Amino acid sequence: TSFSDAKFSELLMGNITKSKYEIPTAVQKNAIPIILARRDLMACAQTGSGKTAAFVLPIMKNILEDGIESSQLSSMQEPQALILSPTRELALQIFHECKKFSHDSIIKTGILYGGVDTGYQLRKLDQGCNILVATPGRLLDVLEKKKISLEKVKYFVLDEADRMLDMGFEKAVREILEKGQVHKKGDRCTFMFSATFPNEIQQLAQDFLHDYLFLAV
Ligand code: AMP
Repeated sequence: TSFSDAKFSELLMGNITKSKYEIPTAVQKNAIPIILARRDLMACAQTGSGKTAAFVLPIMKNILEDGIESSQLSSMQEPQALILSPTRELALQIFHECKKFSHDSIIKTGILYGGVDTGYQLRKLDQGCNILVATPGRLLDVLEKKKISLEKVKYFVLDEADRMLDMGFEKAVREILEKGQVHKKGDRCTFMFSATFPNEIQQLAQDFLHDYLFLAV
């Protein structure tokens, strides 16, 4: 199995090669076809397993296939994909991975996390945001101020779901989906990643995922 099996665009393949990714990791081999088929997914995978590219790459291909409406420059950003991360460090890692793979493409990635000036982050977002990487608290804040719309989100990733719960973000995540009027499960694609799979995560999967596939690597 190789990345070329996924039939990524030439540009995306070029960026994968430039990133020195040659052989897909186990989670990439298994998750990429599921996400490309637009099925919901619960994946048990550790940090370091290559899980970031496992969702970023197929989401990019899907977004390009769905078609990007250009020039939202003056109005509020309406990302097609939302990736929630429990920490700013992880959010930044995902953001950089997105930037690397979308280099020279029309896909724009934005990021929101707490502890820094919101104004600066929003000005950056307004340069375009097809994929939004965010931590829950700051996103909720921005959402309540109506500075971003999540109504176009078709791909929703909950990364490190177990840490998300440990850090007490469950309520914030549920509020984001509700206040952001994110498409209901079944009308969006949802991909959950977690290192562990305790009862609370199984319950969350029941709540957030529609007819999902389970993957453990
Ligand atoms: P992650 O688990 O997504 O945080 O990835 C862990 C590290 O492995 C990151 O530095 C990635 O850039 C790298 N990585 C992920 N997938 C591959 C791959 N297929 N080939 C080489 N490096 C990879």
